[in-house]
Amino acid sequence: MLRTVTTAAAMHAMTAAWRASGDTIGFIPTMGALHDGHLALVKQMQKQAKRTVASVFVNPLQFGPDEDFHKYPRPLEADQEKLKAAGCDALFAPAVEEMYPAGFVTSINPGPLAALLEGTIRPGHFAGVATVVTKLLLQVLPDLACFGEKDWQQLQVINRVVRDLAIPVTVVAASIVREPDGLAMSSRNAYLAPDERARATALSQTLFDSAARLRTGEGVQQVLVSGLEKLTQAGFTPDYFVLADGATLESLDRVTSSARLLAAARLGPTRLIDNVAVV
Ligand code: AMP
Repeated sequence: MLRTVTTAAAMHAMTAAWRASGDTIGFIPTMGALHDGHLALVKQMQKQAKRTVASVFVNPLQFGPDEDFHKYPRPLEADQEKLKAAGCDALFAPAVEEMYPAGFVTSINPGPLAALLEGTIRPGHFAGVATVVTKLLLQVLPDLACFGEKDWQQLQVINRVVRDLAIPVTVVAASIVREPDGLAMSSRNAYLAPDERARATALSQTLFDSAARLRTGEGVQQVLVSGLEKLTQAGFTPDYFVLADGATLESLDRVTSSARLLAAARLGPTRLIDNVAVV
């Protein structure tokens, strides 16, 4: 049975009772509009913990002033049905006022990692993410928390924050779940018009092709330039298409064992991100 709670006090009481009876807790923070990518995280936590808690909270702190906070989809009832069908134990769905009551000012600054890539395009984004995730972890106090590799840089930021603040939780990474044509599942895919949806496959295809070319020994600059060209030809406006170290996100000019290709690009009004391991 899925229990929905909207206050931190009720969430605390629920997980305290579970802990008292020896149950481990796996947590899946989300912004809702759930798809199979999110549900894979729920399944992952069900394998590793007795109880699972998902949260749905569209976090205003991680959106810039001109971003899609207001139009972000919020189909809460459909999300509840999906979590129920998946066998999730609890949904934490706080209102903005519960998370950020009047007077809230504290922010978690995740350091230099947060200034790269997504941080150059979305200043303040990762401070917003780090602040909300830290608060959610304190409200739920899970043993494990699962994050998707889809948001690769976010995963690295969260690893950093959890280590730096010694938050007693194990971070679990989950692989990217893709549509049959390769497009990484995302709540924002719903924004794509049919012709854009057809062209959107170019993002993952370019990443896969570029990774394959790098594996054959082709030069990094050549591969990146041609990747950017392919994205542009498909109608994307790329924000970045880079080879970077998977842990530090620093750009690489040669392939290493932790090298990753990361891309962000806009298709019409929709901004998509994706990434792929090279080795
Ligand atoms: P979001 O609701 O977009 O904030 O995502 C919530 C969590 O689900 C984050 O840890 C994401 O990385 C993860 N996630 C979103 N889409 C996918 C996907 N296609 N595959 C794997 N994880 C995903």
